[in-house]
Amino acid sequence: MKTIVVSTNNQHKIQEIEQITKPFGFQLLSKSEAGAGDIDVVEDGATFEENSRKKAEEIMKATGKITIADDSGLVVDCLDGAPGVYSARFAGVDGDDEANNRKLIELLRPVPFAERTARFVSVITMVWPSGETLQARGEVEGHMVTEARGEGGFGYDPLFVPLGSDRTFGEYSPEEKNAISHRGRALQKLHQLLVEKGFGEA
Ligand code: IMP
Repeated sequence: MKTIVVSTNNQHKIQEIEQITKPFGFQLLSKSEAGAGDIDVVEDGATFEENSRKKAEEIMKATGKITIADDSGLVVDCLDGAPGVYSARFAGVDGDDEANNRKLIELLRPVPFAERTARFVSVITMVWPSGETLQARGEVEGHMVTEARGEGGFGYDPLFVPLGSDRTFGEYSPEEKNAISHRGRALQKLHQLLVEKGFGEA
């Protein structure tokens, strides 16, 4: 079985990536499990692509193992694309989902629902010790609500209603979310790229 390091300690991301990479028979290790827990990759890129590549390359170099990284975030049109690449630290503290959601609600409350269009973006990068790299981007369109709903998922999920639905991602089951989410779509594209390269099965 091939071991792959996931360049994160975010258990939600790892679970979502695990579910979708299972068919390839990969065994996933978190950054900590791979002995790289204290490496803090500085996400100073201007795009999801740059940050994703950086996260994958730095952890691959530290562990010597194939590494997969996700850089993702929420892009809100009426906020000129914010929080964007700053999604994890929108309110100042990295990974404080509650504070991030509070800040977003304050900014969006005066905006009519129809103008609260947004999308989640995920860029997945897979890097081999040989230097070979695959990268895939996934997006899901939707609207923001200003009252959190649902206990599922993480981050901005309780505030995001995907297009065509009346439920937030917080109200989706993990399987339902993975089927249409930005990360699910990026991983499906990566899956396709892996198949084209001759890894695993279609
Ligand atoms: P990253 O770990 O630097 O890629 O930051 C990603 C941030 O974007 C997370 O901390 C969340 O705030 C947000 N985010 C990314 N994907 C999702 C998702 O699937 N649901 C909700 N929030 C997400």
